[in-house]
Amino acid sequence: MLQLFMPLGFLGFVYREIKSSLANIERLFALLDRQPAVADKEDAGELEVSRAVLEFKDVAFAYDDARPILQGVSFAVQGGEKVAVVGASGAGKSTLVKLLFRFYDPQSGMVSIDGQDLRDLTQRSLRRQIAIVPQDCVLFNDSLRENIRYGNPDADEEALQKAVAAAHLQDFVARLPAGLDTVVGERGLKLSGGERQRVGIARAAIKDAPILVFDEATSSLDSRSEQAVLGAFSSMAQQHTTLVIAHRLSTIVDADRIVVLHDGKVVEQGKHHDLLLENGYYSQLWQAQQRRSE
Ligand code: ATP
Repeated sequence: MLQLFMPLGFLGFVYREIKSSLANIERLFALLDRQPAVADKEDAGELEVSRAVLEFKDVAFAYDDARPILQGVSFAVQGGEKVAVVGASGAGKSTLVKLLFRFYDPQSGMVSIDGQDLRDLTQRSLRRQIAIVPQDCVLFNDSLRENIRYGNPDADEEALQKAVAAAHLQDFVARLPAGLDTVVGERGLKLSGGERQRVGIARAAIKDAPILVFDEATSSLDSRSEQAVLGAFSSMAQQHTTLVIAHRLSTIVDADRIVVLHDGKVVEQGKHHDLLLENGYYSQLWQAQQRRSE
């Protein structure tokens, strides 16, 4: 019976694998078939960055006409500034980042870098100048070295070491069995949420772009990992124009400016202390988060 069961079990396994691969192939073709939401103009120019000033000017955007997501959004991030965008879940924070990367164009208004309307630029030249640290950094089943170099495959060893240092990963790497050659990801060493996000910071650092976007992790890290991530990020932010999508207000109290989104509109902007004194929506968000953390 066992002799019969083993091959049948194996056939069942093969059948399930083939079925799931076919489903993946179908998804891949569906993805390839999808038209990108934006296309480069025929005469699109290359983005030239000097001061790296970002500006959202009276931006309105909706994924579908029936439901406006952003309305009359205006704010700027001056060269070298760190500006945080805060707001309740669904307020439109990540949508701002999608417009900055030009995955979509606004229905009205303008997003610009150093005065150049993103719609007039090639997407390639735009994306070359922006590095993003995503909420959850996807790791490939490869060495830590290659996972970091994914941010810039042409980077040399010196740039790699600098990126490791910028992400405050040296001690972590020193403790790994094979250092930077340790295989991480799916079938390799599993990294914690904080370590993964620091690999994301190293990837962004090695890209060496003048504009940095940090999408803070929503899932809370333990306080030591959070300090490690924030420490690494703060040193990097000093050399960049930085936009932070913040979920925990405690992490952005030092921002040069905080832009408060509510129902797709900017309802307040200013420094943390001034916003608390205004006693408006930001102050309500702050108090609610303080109560939750207590
Ligand atoms: P969170 O803090 O939960 O990440 P958020 O402030 O970043 O939220 P967005 O992700 O910008 O919010 O989403 C704003 C609104 O747009 C939400 O109501 C969301 O459901 C909707 N939305 C986001 N992406 C799409 C999409 N691709 N198609 C349609 N609606 C979308």
